Amino acid sequence: MTKLRLAIVGAGPAGIYAADILLKAERKFDVSIDLFDHLPAPYGLVRYGVAPDHPRIKGIINALRDVLDRGDIRIFGNVRFGIDVTLADLKKHYNAVIFATGAIKDADLDVPGIDAEGSYGAADFVSWYDGHPDFPREWPLDAASVAVLGNGNVALDVARVLAKHADDLLSTEIPANVYEGLKASPVTDVHVFGRRGPAQVKFTPLELRELGELRDVDMVVYDEDFDYDEASKAAIASNKQVMVIDRVLQSWRQRPSVNNVGGEASRRLHLHFWARPVEIKKDADGRVAAIVTERTRPNNSGGVEGTGELREIAIGQVYRAVGYFGSPLPDVPFDKRHGVIPNHEGQVVEKGSNERVPGVYATGWIKRGPVGLIGHTKSDAMETIRHLINDQASWWTPEDPSDEAIISLLAERQVAWTDLDGWHRLDQHEVALGAPHERERVKVVDRDEMVRVSRGE
Ligand SMILES: Cc1cc2nc3c(=O)[nH]c(=O)nc-3n(C[C@H](O)[C@H](O)[C@H](O)COP(=O)(O)OP(=O)(O)OC[C@H]3O[C@@H](n4cnc5c(N)ncnc54)[C@H](O)[C@@H]3O)c2cc1C
Repeated sequence: MTKLRLAIVGAGPAGIYAADILLKAERKFDVSIDLFDHLPAPYGLVRYGVAPDHPRIKGIINALRDVLDRGDIRIFGNVRFGIDVTLADLKKHYNAVIFATGAIKDADLDVPGIDAEGSYGAADFVSWYDGHPDFPREWPLDAASVAVLGNGNVALDVARVLAKHADDLLSTEIPANVYEGLKASPVTDVHVFGRRGPAQVKFTPLELRELGELRDVDMVVYDEDFDYDEASKAAIASNKQVMVIDRVLQSWRQRPSVNNVGGEASRRLHLHFWARPVEIKKDADGRVAAIVTERTRPNNSGGVEGTGELREIAIGQVYRAVGYFGSPLPDVPFDKRHGVIPNHEGQVVEKGSNERVPGVYATGWIKRGPVGLIGHTKSDAMETIRHLINDQASWWTPEDPSDEAIISLLAERQVAWTDLDGWHRLDQHEVALGAPHERERVKVVDRDEMVRVSRGE
């Protein structure tokens, strides 16, 4: 029977679901799968993006772990595609590759002053609080008043982590230095800015409602933002999700807060709608000093336009949560504008000519762009795998398809790769670190230490 030797680059949910779907699919050939990731731990953004105080979502890791633990997928962690292993190497040893490399960087935001000291990307902050090994361990939480730009779930995650008291995060897996950093934060006011209205937000009701349950944090919304236009009224009447969001926001309008006097919490989380950032003002040292926003209103084509009315709020830090952006991979086509690998339903194509690149596939955020929930990566993977199965005639013909070839190559290049047993060792080590403190786990963040523990050195 023919055998498909498949390399998957990226052990986030997209890569793991793709492996699982292929192994369970009806097909006329055998399969062996090697899963590569440049991190020594699998699960991508489920481990390094999903907020630590969302244990139910983090729990998706259990389902992903079951796939890996079945034993029919080999893992090669701490292996960087493009450096430790190249496309030419994969062509020598596999019939095809699926890229599932996701996104880890912030999209840019073109606002004067966004380069000020104290202006950050949400993705960097998320990587810090989630203990990503490749990001600095120190985070200067030194501002009383902070702005978060964006109206998606990542903006709410960042605002919530900034506003929440560190002790309320202590039961989670946050690394010790993150707890210490948040504990020392002088923050009192977190301002979230969205360009559009409450009926056009991108966040989900559950994430919004959660903000109202934070201990010692007042929710502040502003009455002038709720003067709905016809399109907003129609959205609230016809879309259940928007209706619930409106209901939650309306309930906060009734609550005592600094906005309508009477709030007693030591911290406040303000939601500003119809507010487009137009400038980040700097102090004499080039540090963030204030944000200037322009009031917007709906235009006639479903977007917004400026009204010319400006407002300035003093802040000491700003976080832009305006989306993630994929990174290019050596020798693999890349669409610089959208930050994705150009593809047709997962079959990679050359940028410009749209010509198929045989043997090369994409799935997950690097295929579709950085939007959508973990569950979406499953339907994504189904589509990609369907093409991979049907494309048998155009797979590569590797010169050495043996199981040992890739192991010899990594050993020759002195790559300290980690495998499934290594991941189990690291996993158990983290759980043991948490046990004395009645925490589910404490994450190891230093890459060398992760590798040492994994390799039992
Ligand atoms: C802050 C944040 C919070 C989120 N919260 C939720 C939530 O609550 N619920 C929900 O459903 N979804 C949430 N999501 C979305 C979810 O994380 C994504 O839908 C999902 O992780 C995308 O999966 P992926 O496998 O495509 O990418 P990723 O999860 O990014 O995985 C990509 C993998 O590829 C690896 N990789 C990258 N480059 C290389 C390379 N050169 N060589 C080798 N390996 C490489 C990475 O290390 C990573 O492990 C959140 C996302 C973010 C950013």
